[in-house]
Amino acid sequence: MPNYDLHCHSTASDGLLAPAELVRRAAGNGVDILALTDHDEISGLAEARAQAAVLNLRFVDGVEVSISWGGITIHVVGLNIDPDNQQLQRGLQSIRQGRAERAKLMAKDLERVGIPGSLEGAYAYVENPNLIGRTHFARFLAEKRYVSDVKSAFQHYLVSGKPGYVPHQWATLQDALGYIKAGGGIAVVAHPGRYKLTRAEMRNFLGEFKDGGGTGVEVVTSSHTPEQFLEYAILAKEFGFLASRGSDFHGPGESRVDLGKLPNLAADLKPVWHDW
Ligand code: AMP
Ligand code: MN
Ligand code: MN
Ligand code: MN
Repeated sequence: MPNYDLHCHSTASDGLLAPAELVRRAAGNGVDILALTDHDEISGLAEARAQAAVLNLRFVDGVEVSISWGGITIHVVGLNIDPDNQQLQRGLQSIRQGRAERAKLMAKDLERVGIPGSLEGAYAYVENPNLIGRTHFARFLAEKRYVSDVKSAFQHYLVSGKPGYVPHQWATLQDALGYIKAGGGIAVVAHPGRYKLTRAEMRNFLGEFKDGGGTGVEVVTSSHTPEQFLEYAILAKEFGFLASRGSDFHGPGESRVDLGKLPNLAADLKPVWHDW
């Protein structure tokens, strides 16, 4: 089976590697087909695609769209999108817009608990000024030793109920599906096992996602345990979703799973790439 990795991040969002570096690392790891899926952002795709062409690696234009649903944040990956589509571009821009203001409020809240300078500190890690996110704050918190590493920043800060967390309204599910569809792509639920939803709520979400035109779910992702590979394989089959595989790699030393280093999808699943 060719090595598909259909979820990762570059410096165009909160990854540590520039798009071209990311593609070189993927090729070195034996990835055959790579999708770059930056958060709410497609500005890294051209550079990644050009590098992939040089290395004879198949490249898939992607994006990871932030949505709000049922009071929580959910991520939807769009694959095989057309980066030139205006409706998609405008939609993503509208999602990105609130991030700068949110970052100011996050910094204010961190200041409240005695952590100064986090806005500037976080921006020091930002390559794309339109795309500041929690990961950049997490890197600042680790740098200043408020936490031991980026992962633990998300245990003590930046999450609901902890300092630095600011509730945010992302796109609606309908809008996100509309943008991805306008761009000619397919929509895939990112790391479904990560959301704090009951089984009933998850089924509810998957039903709405399907009815809204969603196509797939990530089954094999670094966010899932082996038990969750099975759990989401069963749900994929039950709902008639195609299955995806992606590392969600953000950078060396920060991600548990490197590009392309994931188990294969089970043979009885229909992969998102079955008709590519
Ligand atoms: P944002 O879009 O600004 O809310 O940031 C979301 C990003 O924060 C995710 O894509 C991850 O990169 C990162 N993140 C969220 N939760 C965690 C966690 N528990 N450990 C590590 N990174 C996390
Ligand atoms: Mn991220
Ligand atoms: Mn995500
Ligand atoms: Mn991701």
